[in-house]
Amino acid sequence: MAKKQNPFNEYDIFTQAVHTGTDYDEGTGAVRRPLHMANSYKLPDDLSQVNYSSTDLLMYSRNGNANQHWLEEKVAALYGADDAIVLASGVGALHALFWTLLSSGDRVVYPNVSYMAVYRMFHELFNKKFNVDTVMVDMTDLEAVKRAITPGTKLVHIETPDNPTVGVTDIEAIVKIAHENGALVSVDNTFASPYNQRPLDLGADFVVDALTKFINGHGDAQGGAIISNDLETMDRIRYEAQVNVGAVISPFNAWQIFRGSVTFPLRMQRINESTQKVAEWLEQRENVTFVSYPGLPSNPGHELAKRQMKHGYGGVISFGLAADDKTVERFCAELKMITFAVSLGHDESLIFPQPSYDERINLYPEKFRKGFIRFSIGLEDPEDIINDLDQALQAIGL
Ligand SMILES: *Cc1c(COP(=O)(O)O)cnc(C)c1O
Repeated sequence: MAKKQNPFNEYDIFTQAVHTGTDYDEGTGAVRRPLHMANSYKLPDDLSQVNYSSTDLLMYSRNGNANQHWLEEKVAALYGADDAIVLASGVGALHALFWTLLSSGDRVVYPNVSYMAVYRMFHELFNKKFNVDTVMVDMTDLEAVKRAITPGTKLVHIETPDNPTVGVTDIEAIVKIAHENGALVSVDNTFASPYNQRPLDLGADFVVDALTKFINGHGDAQGGAIISNDLETMDRIRYEAQVNVGAVISPFNAWQIFRGSVTFPLRMQRINESTQKVAEWLEQRENVTFVSYPGLPSNPGHELAKRQMKHGYGGVISFGLAADDKTVERFCAELKMITFAVSLGHDESLIFPQPSYDERINLYPEKFRKGFIRFSIGLEDPEDIINDLDQALQAIGL
C-alpha cells in the first residue's frame, strides 16, 4: 500500500488525534465517517486487474476494511510514521510481525521480561514448531545482548517499559548493537504509548502497540497495530499475515478504537500526572516493599527514561506488599472503587496481582517475587485512587 499523504502532518499530536483519518461522509455530508459493517465491497466491472490477495482494493474484509484503513491513518499519525497496520489484537499484531520476519533457522533475541504471549511464542511455539532459534536475554545487560546476537540473528524484540515489571530498556543502545550486526529491532510500545515514546525516532524498525490499552482507552474494544517506515516489509506483513493468516480487526472494533483515540493525548497527559502522584505516595507508604515506575528518581531506569520518554512515564506502576499471595488477593478485593481485573490503559484504574506461583516469577528481579501487584492508573481523581489504596491496605492490616 502506498504511503498515504496526511494533510495534518505538520500539526501537534493533540490536533492529529482529532483530525487525522476523519472527514465528511461523502454520501451524506455527516461530519463523521460512518461505520461500514460490510464484509464485501462492490468489485470493479473489469476484473482482469484484480489481485485477490491485495490489500489496496476494498474487496473483502480480510483484505482490509474502510474503518481499519481510517484507524491506520490515525495510528501512523500518532507515531509520526509512514504506515501502520491494524489487526484484531495486540498479540495478533505481534504474531503477524514475527510470522512475517522469521523463518526456520533464523535467530530472534527477546527479553526475559515481556508480555506473556511473547514469552509463549518464543519460549515454546516458534522454536518448537518452526525451528526458530529463540534466545532470551536481560535487555538491560548490553554485553549479554551483544553476545546473543549472531550472524543469523534476524530480529531483536524489546518491550519498554515492560509488562509486568515496568522495567526500562535503552532503545537507542539496542538499535545500535542490532543494526551493527544486521538485525532488525521491534519495540512493544504499549506501556509508554506514542504520547510518551516514539521508538521509530530512536532508530527502531518496527513498533507494536496494543490499541486495546491506552489508544482505545475505554476498555471496550480489542485491537493492535504494527507501525513502521519500512513500506516494503509492511506490504509483506499485509500479504503474508493479514490476508493469509487472517487476524483482521472487525470494522466495529476499528470504529470504537478510532473514537477512543480522539482523546488519547488528553487522557495520557492526565494519566502521566496521576500515575506520578500515586507512585510517589506508594513509595513513602509503609509496608510497600518496592515501587517500580520510571518517573521516580529512585528508579534505576529513571535517567534513561528521561532521555527516551517525553511528557511523562505512562500509566502503569508495579509495586510490592509485605504480604503473601492470599493477602494480596484480599487487598485487591477490599478496594472499593479501583477495579480488580486484568488489562490496563482503561478509563478506570485496574489492579491485578502477579502471584508468586507464576511460572516466570524467577525471570524477574528478586524483589518482584513476593507480594507483586500491577496497577494501571485511570482517569479518576488521583486523591480518590490514593484513598482507596490506603483504606484497602488498612483493611488487611498493613
Ligand atoms: C496487552 C498487551 C499486549 C497484547 O494486547 P492484546 O490486545 O491483549 O492482544 C501486548 N503487549 C503489551 C505490553 C500489552 O500490555
